[in-house]
Amino acid sequence: MGGCPRYAGYVAYRGVIDEAELPEELSEVFRDRFSFYDGDRTQFLCYFIPGDFGATTPGRRRMNWVWYIRADAAGLDRITTDRNGTAHGLSLPPGLIAPQVHTELLDRAGALLPEPMRKLVEHTREPFAQAILDGRVSRMRSGRMLLTGDAAFVVRPHTAASAEKAAADAITLFTALQQVPSLDGALRAWEEDRLAEGMALYRRGIGLGHRLGLGSAEAGQRSPWTG
Ligand SMILES: Cc1cc2nc3c(=O)[nH]c(=O)nc-3n(C[C@H](O)[C@H](O)[C@H](O)COP(=O)(O)OP(=O)(O)OC[C@H]3O[C@@H](n4cnc5c(N)ncnc54)[C@H](O)[C@@H]3O)c2cc1C
Repeated sequence: MGGCPRYAGYVAYRGVIDEAELPEELSEVFRDRFSFYDGDRTQFLCYFIPGDFGATTPGRRRMNWVWYIRADAAGLDRITTDRNGTAHGLSLPPGLIAPQVHTELLDRAGALLPEPMRKLVEHTREPFAQAILDGRVSRMRSGRMLLTGDAAFVVRPHTAASAEKAAADAITLFTALQQVPSLDGALRAWEEDRLAEGMALYRRGIGLGHRLGLGSAEAGQRSPWTG
Protein backbone atom coordinates (compact mmCIF):
# COMPACT_ATOMS: atom_id res chain seq x y z
CA MET A 1 0.00 0.00 0.00
CA GLY A 2 3.04 2.30 0.23
CA GLY A 3 6.74 2.63 0.85
CA CYS A 4 8.68 2.60 4.09
CA PRO A 5 8.87 5.81 6.13
CA ARG A 6 12.11 7.69 5.41
CA TYR A 7 14.42 9.60 7.69
CA ALA A 8 13.78 13.33 7.21
CA GLY A 9 17.33 14.45 8.07
CA TYR A 10 16.82 15.69 11.62
CA VAL A 11 16.20 14.44 15.12
CA ALA A 12 14.10 15.62 18.03
CA TYR A 13 16.10 15.71 21.23
CA ARG A 14 13.70 15.68 24.14
CA GLY A 15 13.71 16.14 27.89
CA VAL A 16 11.30 16.04 30.80
CA ILE A 17 11.94 17.73 34.16
CA ASP A 18 9.72 17.63 37.27
CA GLU A 19 8.47 21.16 37.84
CA ALA A 20 9.50 20.85 41.50
CA GLU A 21 13.11 20.47 40.34
CA LEU A 22 13.07 23.50 38.05
CA PRO A 23 14.99 26.52 39.33
CA GLU A 24 12.49 29.19 40.33
CA GLU A 25 13.62 31.63 37.67
CA LEU A 26 12.87 29.04 34.96
CA SER A 27 9.42 28.28 36.37
CA GLU A 28 8.77 32.01 36.23
CA VAL A 29 9.99 32.42 32.63
CA PHE A 30 8.01 29.49 31.25
CA ARG A 31 4.95 29.76 33.51
CA ASP A 32 1.76 29.00 31.58
CA ARG A 33 3.51 29.62 28.28
CA PHE A 34 4.09 27.49 25.22
CA SER A 35 7.55 28.78 24.25
CA PHE A 36 9.29 28.54 20.87
CA TYR A 37 12.74 29.51 19.71
CA ASP A 38 13.37 29.40 15.95
CA GLY A 39 17.10 29.54 15.25
CA ASP A 40 19.22 28.89 12.20
CA ARG A 41 17.87 25.55 10.90
CA THR A 42 16.83 24.53 14.37
CA GLN A 43 13.79 24.91 16.61
CA PHE A 44 13.33 24.53 20.35
CA LEU A 45 9.95 24.39 22.05
CA CYS A 46 8.85 23.74 25.60
CA TYR A 47 5.67 23.53 27.61
CA PHE A 48 4.29 21.98 30.77
CA ILE A 49 2.70 18.53 30.67
CA PRO A 50 0.85 16.71 33.47
CA GLY A 51 2.90 15.17 36.28
CA ASP A 52 2.28 11.97 38.25
CA PHE A 53 -1.34 10.79 38.23
CA GLY A 54 -2.17 13.43 35.62
CA ALA A 55 -1.48 16.32 38.02
CA THR A 56 -1.90 19.74 36.38
CA THR A 57 -1.46 21.85 39.53
CA PRO A 58 1.49 24.26 39.24
CA GLY A 59 4.47 22.75 41.05
CA ARG A 60 3.37 19.18 40.33
CA ARG A 61 3.58 19.23 36.54
CA ARG A 62 6.54 18.39 34.30
CA MET A 63 8.38 20.63 31.89
CA ASN A 64 8.68 19.00 28.48
CA TRP A 65 11.09 20.29 25.83
CA VAL A 66 11.78 19.30 22.24
CA TRP A 67 14.78 20.46 20.20
CA TYR A 68 14.99 19.76 16.47
CA ILE A 69 18.56 19.41 15.21
CA ARG A 70 19.78 18.42 11.77
CA ALA A 71 21.81 15.21 11.62
CA ASP A 72 22.95 13.21 8.61
CA ALA A 73 22.63 9.42 8.57
CA ALA A 74 25.96 8.96 10.37
CA GLY A 75 24.93 11.60 12.93
CA LEU A 76 21.65 9.79 13.57
CA ASP A 77 23.52 6.52 14.14
CA ARG A 78 25.85 8.27 16.57
CA ILE A 79 23.02 9.89 18.54
CA THR A 80 20.97 6.70 18.79
CA THR A 81 23.87 4.45 19.77
CA ASP A 82 23.71 4.30 23.54
CA ARG A 83 26.38 4.48 26.25
CA ASN A 84 26.79 0.68 26.07
CA GLY A 85 27.35 0.70 22.32
CA THR A 86 23.90 -0.67 21.49
CA ALA A 87 22.47 0.85 18.31
CA HIS A 88 18.75 1.68 18.64
CA GLY A 89 18.32 2.91 15.08
CA LEU A 90 15.53 5.46 15.18
CA SER A 91 15.43 6.55 18.80
CA LEU A 92 17.45 6.81 21.98
CA PRO A 93 15.65 5.93 25.23
CA PRO A 94 15.97 8.10 28.37
CA GLY A 95 18.98 7.32 30.58
CA LEU A 96 21.16 5.84 27.87
CA ILE A 97 22.73 8.80 26.06
CA ALA A 98 26.44 8.24 25.37
CA PRO A 99 28.66 10.64 27.41
CA GLN A 100 30.28 12.15 24.32
CA VAL A 101 26.91 12.73 22.66
CA HIS A 102 25.60 14.31 25.87
CA THR A 103 28.62 16.62 26.04
CA GLU A 104 28.05 17.67 22.44
CA LEU A 105 24.38 18.32 23.17
CA LEU A 106 25.30 20.59 26.09
CA ASP A 107 27.95 22.39 24.01
CA ARG A 108 25.46 22.93 21.23
CA ALA A 109 22.88 24.24 23.70
CA GLY A 110 25.47 26.70 24.99
CA ALA A 111 26.25 27.90 21.48
CA LEU A 112 22.78 28.01 19.95
CA LEU A 113 20.02 28.46 22.54
CA PRO A 114 18.76 31.45 24.52
CA GLU A 115 19.74 31.18 28.18
CA PRO A 116 16.47 29.87 29.71
CA MET A 117 16.28 27.09 27.12
CA ARG A 118 19.96 26.25 27.49
CA LYS A 119 19.33 25.88 31.22
CA LEU A 120 16.48 23.46 30.58
CA VAL A 121 18.83 21.25 28.59
CA GLU A 122 21.43 21.48 31.35
CA HIS A 123 18.88 20.55 34.05
CA THR A 124 17.71 17.47 32.18
CA ARG A 125 19.16 14.31 33.68
CA GLU A 126 18.09 11.92 30.96
CA PRO A 127 17.69 13.51 27.53
CA PHE A 128 16.39 11.20 24.84
CA ALA A 129 15.95 11.45 21.10
CA GLN A 130 13.94 10.24 18.15
CA ALA A 131 14.41 10.46 14.40
CA ILE A 132 11.88 12.50 12.42
CA LEU A 133 10.36 10.41 9.65
CA ASP A 134 8.24 10.96 6.55
CA GLY A 135 5.85 8.16 5.69
CA ARG A 136 2.84 7.92 3.42
CA VAL A 137 0.81 5.32 1.65
CA SER A 138 -0.94 5.41 -1.71
CA ARG A 139 -3.76 3.18 -0.50
CA MET A 140 -5.32 2.71 2.92
CA ARG A 141 -7.43 -0.28 2.01
CA SER A 142 -6.91 -3.76 0.66
CA GLY A 143 -10.21 -5.62 0.58
CA ARG A 144 -11.51 -5.41 4.14
CA MET A 145 -8.13 -4.60 5.64
CA LEU A 146 -7.51 -0.93 6.47
CA LEU A 147 -4.53 1.16 7.52
CA THR A 148 -5.23 4.00 9.96
CA GLY A 149 -3.26 6.53 12.00
CA ASP A 150 0.52 6.34 11.89
CA ALA A 151 0.32 3.03 10.04
CA ALA A 152 -0.85 5.05 7.02
CA PHE A 153 0.87 8.46 7.39
CA VAL A 154 3.87 9.37 9.52
CA VAL A 155 3.60 13.12 9.71
CA ARG A 156 6.22 15.55 10.99
CA PRO A 157 5.48 16.62 14.54
CA HIS A 158 5.29 20.37 13.70
CA THR A 159 1.66 19.83 12.67
CA ALA A 160 0.77 18.68 16.23
CA ALA A 161 -2.17 16.95 14.56
CA SER A 162 -1.37 13.29 13.94
CA ALA A 163 -3.16 12.04 17.05
CA GLU A 164 -6.24 13.91 15.91
CA LYS A 165 -5.83 12.44 12.42
CA ALA A 166 -5.63 8.93 13.85
CA ALA A 167 -8.82 9.52 15.83
CA ALA A 168 -10.54 11.03 12.78
CA ASP A 169 -9.62 7.97 10.71
CA ALA A 170 -11.61 5.85 13.18
CA ILE A 171 -14.51 8.26 13.68
CA THR A 172 -15.04 8.82 9.95
CA LEU A 173 -14.94 5.07 9.39
CA PHE A 174 -17.74 4.65 11.92
CA THR A 175 -19.78 7.36 10.21
CA ALA A 176 -19.15 5.96 6.72
CA LEU A 177 -20.24 2.50 7.81
CA GLN A 178 -23.44 3.95 9.23
CA GLN A 179 -24.28 6.16 6.26
CA VAL A 180 -23.33 4.20 3.16
CA PRO A 181 -25.49 1.10 2.59
CA SER A 182 -22.85 -1.16 0.98
CA LEU A 183 -19.68 -2.11 2.84
CA ASP A 184 -17.61 -1.76 -0.31
CA GLY A 185 -19.04 1.67 -1.05
CA ALA A 186 -18.46 2.81 2.54
CA LEU A 187 -14.83 1.70 2.54
CA ARG A 188 -14.17 3.22 -0.89
CA ALA A 189 -15.62 6.59 0.14
CA TRP A 190 -13.73 6.47 3.46
CA GLU A 191 -10.42 5.67 1.78
CA GLU A 192 -10.77 8.49 -0.75
CA ASP A 193 -11.52 11.02 1.97
CA ARG A 194 -8.80 9.86 4.39
CA LEU A 195 -6.11 9.60 1.72
CA ALA A 196 -6.74 13.24 0.81
CA GLU A 197 -6.67 14.31 4.47
CA GLY A 198 -3.54 12.27 5.18
CA MET A 199 -1.66 13.66 2.16
CA ALA A 200 -2.61 17.23 3.05
CA LEU A 201 -1.31 16.83 6.61
CA TYR A 202 1.82 15.02 5.42
CA ARG A 203 2.64 17.87 3.00
CA ARG A 204 1.89 20.51 5.61
CA GLY A 205 4.35 18.84 7.99
CA ILE A 206 7.11 18.83 5.38
CA GLY A 207 6.32 22.45 4.49
CA LEU A 208 6.54 23.53 8.14
CA GLY A 209 9.86 21.69 8.44
CA HIS A 210 11.21 23.46 5.36
CA ARG A 211 10.23 26.84 6.71
CA LEU A 212 12.41 26.05 9.70
CA GLY A 213 15.22 24.89 7.42
CA LEU A 214 14.75 21.33 8.65
CA GLY A 215 14.84 18.29 6.41
CA SER A 216 14.73 18.13 2.67
CA ALA A 217 12.29 16.70 0.17
CA GLU A 218 11.63 13.04 0.92
CA ALA A 219 13.28 11.81 -2.30
CA GLY A 220 16.91 11.03 -1.68
CA GLN A 221 16.60 10.54 2.06
CA ARG A 222 17.54 7.09 3.18
CA SER A 223 14.96 4.72 4.57
CA PRO A 224 15.77 3.56 8.09
CA TRP A 225 14.41 0.14 7.19
CA THR A 226 15.91 -0.43 3.79
CA GLY A 227 19.05 1.73 4.00
C1 LIG B 1 7.11 11.79 21.30
C2 LIG B 1 5.87 12.02 20.49
C3 LIG B 1 5.15 13.21 20.65
C4 LIG B 1 3.99 13.42 19.91
N1 LIG B 1 3.29 14.57 20.09
C5 LIG B 1 2.14 14.74 19.42
C6 LIG B 1 1.34 15.90 19.61
O1 LIG B 1 1.69 16.81 20.38
N2 LIG B 1 0.17 16.00 18.94
C7 LIG B 1 -0.24 15.04 18.07
O2 LIG B 1 -1.32 15.16 17.48
N3 LIG B 1 0.49 13.94 17.87
C8 LIG B 1 1.66 13.76 18.52
N4 LIG B 1 2.41 12.64 18.30
C9 LIG B 1 1.96 11.68 17.30
C10 LIG B 1 0.89 10.78 17.87
O3 LIG B 1 1.33 10.22 19.09
C11 LIG B 1 0.61 9.66 16.86
O4 LIG B 1 0.34 10.23 15.59
C12 LIG B 1 -0.59 8.85 17.29
O5 LIG B 1 -0.33 8.26 18.55
C13 LIG B 1 -0.87 7.77 16.26
O6 LIG B 1 -1.87 6.93 16.75
P1 LIG B 1 -1.96 5.45 16.25
O7 LIG B 1 -3.15 4.86 16.94
O8 LIG B 1 -1.91 5.41 14.77
O9 LIG B 1 -0.62 4.75 16.71
P2 LIG B 1 -0.08 4.50 18.22
O10 LIG B 1 -0.59 5.54 19.17
O11 LIG B 1 1.40 4.33 18.04
O12 LIG B 1 -0.76 3.15 18.60
C14 LIG B 1 -0.34 1.91 18.04
C15 LIG B 1 -0.63 0.84 19.08
O13 LIG B 1 -0.39 -0.43 18.48
C16 LIG B 1 0.31 -1.22 19.42
N5 LIG B 1 1.01 -2.26 18.66
C17 LIG B 1 2.11 -2.14 17.89
N6 LIG B 1 2.44 -3.30 17.36
C18 LIG B 1 1.53 -4.20 17.78
C19 LIG B 1 1.33 -5.58 17.56
N7 LIG B 1 2.13 -6.28 16.78
N8 LIG B 1 0.29 -6.18 18.17
C20 LIG B 1 -0.57 -5.47 18.96
N9 LIG B 1 -0.42 -4.14 19.21
C21 LIG B 1 0.62 -3.54 18.62
C22 LIG B 1 1.23 -0.25 20.12
O14 LIG B 1 1.67 -0.75 21.35
C23 LIG B 1 0.31 0.96 20.28
O15 LIG B 1 -0.46 0.88 21.46
C24 LIG B 1 3.57 12.43 19.01
C25 LIG B 1 4.29 11.25 18.87
C26 LIG B 1 5.44 11.04 19.58
C27 LIG B 1 6.21 9.74 19.44
